[in-house]
Amino acid sequence: MTSRYGEAMVEPSAFPEPILHVDMDAFFVEVERLQDATLQGVPVVVGGLGNRGVVAAASYEARAYGVHSAMPVVQARRLCPHARFVPPDHRRYRAVSEEVFAIFRSFTPRVEGLSVDEAFLDVSGLRRHYPSSAAVGIQVRASIQDQLSLPASVGVATNKFLAKLASEEAKPDGLLTVAAGRELDFLHPLEVRRMWGVGEATYATLEGLGVNTIGDLARVPQSTLEQRLGRSLGQHLYRLALGEDDRPVEPDGETKSVSSEQTFESDLTAPDVIETELLRQCERVGSRLRRAGLAGRTVTVKLRYSDFTTITRSHSFASGVDVTHDIYEAVRDLVGRVDLGRAVRLLGVGVTSLESAGGPRQLGLKRPAAWDDVSAAVDEVRARFGDGAVAPARLVPPPSSSE
Ligand SMILES: [Mg+2]
Repeated sequence: MTSRYGEAMVEPSAFPEPILHVDMDAFFVEVERLQDATLQGVPVVVGGLGNRGVVAAASYEARAYGVHSAMPVVQARRLCPHARFVPPDHRRYRAVSEEVFAIFRSFTPRVEGLSVDEAFLDVSGLRRHYPSSAAVGIQVRASIQDQLSLPASVGVATNKFLAKLASEEAKPDGLLTVAAGRELDFLHPLEVRRMWGVGEATYATLEGLGVNTIGDLARVPQSTLEQRLGRSLGQHLYRLALGEDDRPVEPDGETKSVSSEQTFESDLTAPDVIETELLRQCERVGSRLRRAGLAGRTVTVKLRYSDFTTITRSHSFASGVDVTHDIYEAVRDLVGRVDLGRAVRLLGVGVTSLESAGGPRQLGLKRPAAWDDVSAAVDEVRARFGDGAVAPARLVPPPSSSE
């Protein structure tokens, strides 16, 4: 059936490359550098300092000397004696990792962690908000840089196998898209050792077959691979060598909350400045909710005064909200009941009791339905031009009077 408005009703087409692999660059080293600026630009080795210690991470400057993770620290010292050696602080890495994953989940709930510093993201649900999956990747990298000052690399591809290889190729601090239809141009020149999850014995067998690159592997008859490696592994590797991988991204867990929090360099004292900051945070939270296709029933505002007393106040709706205006109305009601006459050092806005945004809409909200369209339009512009591109009029500084 054709509609007169057929064109306008067509869904945006699916992203041809819907899978992102995001991998932090030299994660432990970069977290240490946040604490100690003298570690910038010099070889750094994070590892146990005893004689039996092992390298947990090496900076790119140290890798240039042949140092790599899992190497004995003693050997790293021989290769790069002038490196700075730092003991690992795994508690801190886990805490920063949680922040990194919170950023991933602010884009999509479909996040599958592989380790403390890397994950797959299935961004196929974001096609209404971004022109391409690479645009999502660019925004993920920018958010990690803006919010945590840490570098990350992103691979964008049709499947997990290719996305992971692409992020390795993008390193450090880059993004690489393997365009749909061009998979083999990217894949076949790579060394077969780069294939993920293949053990030493398998490599030895493949080398025995004269296989050096993934392209070589693709030219070995499938029956030979099945015979030498067993049916299941042989089939699996043969399909990977053709760039085929249908393993889905398996999300780790549900997103429990979406929030934004900021500590200010100098305390805020003027109530209207505080309200403007709260609106900015509502805008950020609303945008993340909509991007992830989520809505939440409970809105919480948090204020910490200059003497570190902290108060939180919550409001619950009968059904989920995801429109900035609704979140802000709740926040304004809540702060209307607290003391804004004192200096504030931290403000936060959070939305919890999350549900899929497809559920029943909150009824009886005192706002025109047009706010939904405004939010959608804002998301669209943000997706194309970045988070700074649009803001509610209140957040735009007034033009200075020139008369
Ligand atoms: Mg990494």
